[in-house]
Amino acid sequence: MKDLERRRKELEGLLKKYDEAYYRNAKPEVSDQQYDRLRQEFDSLGSQDDMLGLFAGEEDQLGNEKRELVPVVGDDRLEEFESHIHISPMLSLDNTYDEEEFFEFNKRLCKILEKEELPYVVEPKIDGVAVSLTYEQGVLVKATTRGNGIEGDIITQNIIHIQNLPTKITSANFPSLIEIRGEIFMAHDEFNRINSERENEGLDLYANPRNLTAGTVKLLDPKEARRRKLEIVVYGLGACHPSGYFSTQSQFHHSLKVWGLPTVEFLQAVSSASGAWAAIGHLDEQRNNYSYPTDGAVIKLDSIEMQQVAGTTAKAPRWAIAYKFESERQQTLLENIIIQVGRTGTITPVACLKPVQLAGSLVSRASLHNADEISRKDVRIGDQVIVEKAGEIIPQVVEVVLSEREHSLVPFSFPSVCPECESELFKTEGETAWRCPNSLCPDQIKARIEYFASRGCMNIDHLGESVISQLVDRSLAIKLSDIYNLSKDQLLQLDGFAEKSADNLLLSIEKSKEQDLWRLICSLGIKHVGVSASKDLARVFRSLHTLAQATESDLTAIEGIGGIMAKSVISFFEDNATQDLIRFFKDQGLQVELPIADLELDLILDGKIFVLTGALSELTRDQAVEKIEALGGRVSSSVSKKTSFLVSGSSTGSKFNKAEKLNIPIISESEFYDMIQKG
Ligand code: NAD
Repeated sequence: MKDLERRRKELEGLLKKYDEAYYRNAKPEVSDQQYDRLRQEFDSLGSQDDMLGLFAGEEDQLGNEKRELVPVVGDDRLEEFESHIHISPMLSLDNTYDEEEFFEFNKRLCKILEKEELPYVVEPKIDGVAVSLTYEQGVLVKATTRGNGIEGDIITQNIIHIQNLPTKITSANFPSLIEIRGEIFMAHDEFNRINSERENEGLDLYANPRNLTAGTVKLLDPKEARRRKLEIVVYGLGACHPSGYFSTQSQFHHSLKVWGLPTVEFLQAVSSASGAWAAIGHLDEQRNNYSYPTDGAVIKLDSIEMQQVAGTTAKAPRWAIAYKFESERQQTLLENIIIQVGRTGTITPVACLKPVQLAGSLVSRASLHNADEISRKDVRIGDQVIVEKAGEIIPQVVEVVLSEREHSLVPFSFPSVCPECESELFKTEGETAWRCPNSLCPDQIKARIEYFASRGCMNIDHLGESVISQLVDRSLAIKLSDIYNLSKDQLLQLDGFAEKSADNLLLSIEKSKEQDLWRLICSLGIKHVGVSASKDLARVFRSLHTLAQATESDLTAIEGIGGIMAKSVISFFEDNATQDLIRFFKDQGLQVELPIADLELDLILDGKIFVLTGALSELTRDQAVEKIEALGGRVSSSVSKKTSFLVSGSSTGSKFNKAEKLNIPIISESEFYDMIQKG
């Protein structure tokens, strides 16, 4: 008995710690499967009685009795945010990874409802962050996180800009007060974009889109939140006044669609548990095509009356269950740990693995994040490790198979000096990564030049990793400017170079001088400044010289540029080496300012939002985006009330239909060219 109590206490402590890391800090310390196993063990030992209590006599806005503030789910609330009590609590979901348990769930419900078969709806389980949207008289008055289930943080300011989120619903039959539950998420492309910007900036990477979304909705700087493209999808009903609006979950979904809210792509209504099981399998096959990350299916009783009869436990409804898909994992040998030095000096440990097939690709490298992670997991070279694709994207080492560890293996000793230049490593307060302080460290120089030449920056063909490595090792390139001083003779000394390849590289370097100003700004590698900020800076300041003079208030006046980025820009341009570099670029004929023609352009598309659909015959999509942005416009991926024009290469498709419905002007390809040629 004592042992059981000790284990219960131990598990309670662990789960508390993991909850804190997952919900409050958006930085999980263990995988979901590991967490779920511990939670299941804890529950089987009999947890404390945490049923909801009632405040006798008190009523909420809808005249229901108020609940006592007893936390029911992992708490995401932060002190810095104002909180709001949900009218209807936001519960969690019971979950399972097991077919048998799913059918037991059905059996339990059949018993409660005294039925042989039950109608269900199967929906995707979106792997994002839960949100409650409160609409009063059709107006979105509040967006709230789940918090502790009873009370959540108000995050309206961080999500109001989401393009497909209607802030006003004018439909005549919209309830006067409704809480609509959904999920905020981030598409894989956006996740990759932000992580690669962070990598370039030498910041810690996010492990998966869910963590990045959780971090974004809790940003204290709404401008920064606006820079990251969040999306939303809705699926659940909280409080509703007047009541009795919907008789089934499928009907609720239909209404959401009619009201113009973004709903799930896969929704299957079935008449039995075996139908639901088939739908789960179908969903698993399809889910990689959805625009949002999914980690399972949610199976809900379709009839709302039956839902009410089944009721809820303290933590979750009895009428729904999440069937979670196992994320793919493999065991393999950790052959080595190498240390990489980024362009701002960040030290990143990387696991070199015996190649293993994982979720459709051969994996030989995986992230080990940082020194703390290595010691927390006690990862040793020679260990058998479990590798998982987190959020199905970046492979990472999730755990060590301790039972297979050989006695001779020793703990990994993280270097205290840079493996390249031997400078003593340092750590900035609040950051987890160690850094090399030497800006002349050859690895940092290589990474800076690689970034400068990369496709998203100056896009210099033929200047890849191995060429750069040779140039730096032979001291032919130390500063960015050295690239423009390379001679053919110098290139011919490099391995693998002959007349033609040397000419090709010199030509690409010469051509890069024509790259737009925003690319040049981006390629400078200013901390926190990625592609979209570079575009804004180029558009507003129009030359490197003017940008170098910008004050903090000039910079923060630009939408999406916050204090941290502004300070970083200012300190970058204060450096004498930067001033020299700008002069050099100007002398070499790089585009340090927008061409005169552009200055006279008058940003005729300023403030206009375009959506493109169908193929254009004369421009690629990227070229069309560049033209629109050069004239001050913006391009969005989906049609909303804020869209100014839909440029349509065809007269069908969902964007076309939506634009028609919302009365958004639809222009043809040739009308679009007329419009941009006026500029
Ligand atoms: P959950 O994420 O398993 O399921 C409930 C949530 O699913 C709801 O709150 C809702 O936001 C979401 N959801 C997505 N699609 C939905 C749909 N179609 N219908 C209804 N809901 C939908 O539960 P939870 O309470 O948010 O979190 C518990 C889970 O989080 C655990 O089971 C574990 O997997 C994970 N977790 C992991 C760690 C860790 O350290 N790795 C720590 C805490 C929790």
